Amino acid sequence: MAGGKPSGAEGIKTASAGLRGTIAEELAAPDARGGLSESAYTLLKFHGTYEQFDRDTATERKQAGLDKDWQFMVRVRAPAGRLTGAQWLALDALADRHADGTMRLTTRQGMQFHTVKRGNLKDCIADIEKALLTTMAACGDVVRNITTTAAPRRDALHARLEAEAFNLSSALLPRTRAHHEIFLDGESVGESQDEPLYGPTYLPRKFKIGLAHPADNTPDVLANDLGFIARTRGGELIGWIVTIGGGMGMTHNKPATYPRLADPITVIGPDEVLEMAQAVVRLSRDHGDRSDRRHARLKYVVAERGVEWVRARLSEDLGRPLPPPPPLPRLTVPELLGWHAQGDGRWWLGLPIPSGRIADTSRARLRTALREAVQRFGVDPIATPQQDLMLSNVREEDRDALTDLLRDHGITFAEELAPIARWSLSCTALPTCGQALTEGERVHAPIVVQVQDALERHGLLDERISLRLTGCPNGCARPYAGDIGVVGRAPGVYSLFVGGDFEGTRLSFPIADKVATDAVGATLEPILAAYAARRTEGEGFGDFCTRTGPEAVRALLGTAAAA
Ligand code: SF4
Repeated sequence: MAGGKPSGAEGIKTASAGLRGTIAEELAAPDARGGLSESAYTLLKFHGTYEQFDRDTATERKQAGLDKDWQFMVRVRAPAGRLTGAQWLALDALADRHADGTMRLTTRQGMQFHTVKRGNLKDCIADIEKALLTTMAACGDVVRNITTTAAPRRDALHARLEAEAFNLSSALLPRTRAHHEIFLDGESVGESQDEPLYGPTYLPRKFKIGLAHPADNTPDVLANDLGFIARTRGGELIGWIVTIGGGMGMTHNKPATYPRLADPITVIGPDEVLEMAQAVVRLSRDHGDRSDRRHARLKYVVAERGVEWVRARLSEDLGRPLPPPPPLPRLTVPELLGWHAQGDGRWWLGLPIPSGRIADTSRARLRTALREAVQRFGVDPIATPQQDLMLSNVREEDRDALTDLLRDHGITFAEELAPIARWSLSCTALPTCGQALTEGERVHAPIVVQVQDALERHGLLDERISLRLTGCPNGCARPYAGDIGVVGRAPGVYSLFVGGDFEGTRLSFPIADKVATDAVGATLEPILAAYAARRTEGEGFGDFCTRTGPEAVRALLGTAAAA
């Protein structure tokens, strides 16, 4: 499976001298026309940034004989989404200094800046490092940001989940000094390629890790290459179920690519998370397909070799037998927005952030409100895997004043949203993402309104149904793991998926192709009507669709919608 000619990206990594390549030289020419070389573009991902261009203006500029409006997306790595108030203020200041005055929470508890110009890139990344954060390994063929529940509950289990996320994050960072040299003017130590875990060519593809516990699968642990699900007895952590081989990306009309949920592989003791993670990274490093990047994720190794083979390889690597896993416990997704007691006398307030965009608009001054909340009340923000934000460590006596501050700035609270809006995700897509086939974030609100209106017509407005929208099938917002997936197909049209479950434990199936943006709600409505009429007690929408079956669900659409 992995024996073909190495892809071009493999050659770039091999020749990069520890992710250096020509990045420093190319960034030193900020007025250069055109984009970066392919090598620098590829290697910069490992440093947490993608070169992009404004796709809205590209055609017009070309007709006017102008170069594209080149710019960078810069992604901050924030293990478990945890940020201190001081770090939030530092990032907030960078949004004006280097970007477009906004920040964007990612679906992996990170933070992105958009429209950073080449001349500002080095300073932007250096300023992020000064805030004791990093962009290193936020993108690229390495272990990405580590996710877990955002809930800041002050109990032993949550403390452990958070600690494991931080420990994995630092232990699995690449060791190259290239990032320090390029962005922090660190002294060159030459072509150091001492990467004891990754080796000189790093991983075949990105690698995602999530940690969860059965009562909180907000991180969608099974959508990760590697997941750890806590096992407890009497409130004590007794170990972890290890799940391997999840991943959302696929390519339209290429059946050899597919989204996949991870399989449970084995069970380990409470203190064996890092050891297992390193072994699974080595498995991906040594067995992933380096000839075809569309086939390079660990999920294809697991799908094609099988779970027994995977367990045997890990057992060989670790030098001890690994038991088969116990049955997966039922995973659930709790409500974490609104006010919650942390358990230490303080509170957290979870705020819904549509599409994760932190901006001041004519309707709501969200960015200002959050900055003032941090400054006045000393709260520490936490990014969630749902692109929402929690303000943690709120003192009891500050709750009313914080609520008033947010209301004064026009902020919407979770309880003011219908569940479909509350539980919706969207990726960035146009105009910045180079992969986007159509809109994502910019049609998020209208598509949610369409579906919400359809739900209301059938008395379903209060049902907990998730909707996930992406501008292409790469699946950054995990569209195949929710109740409703809306996946960009071509300009202005989407593929629709249903049948996943709210808890992220079952994949959805496609029901309609090339549905126009303004027809998403109408296309789904016959299925919602059937759900309202025929659901069983307590049955979720995705569960109903799965029970009904793909053919019968598609038949509900009629011929008009299933173009
Ligand atoms: Fe870009 Fe596709 Fe990811 Fe959306 S899902 S951000 S369009 S790569």
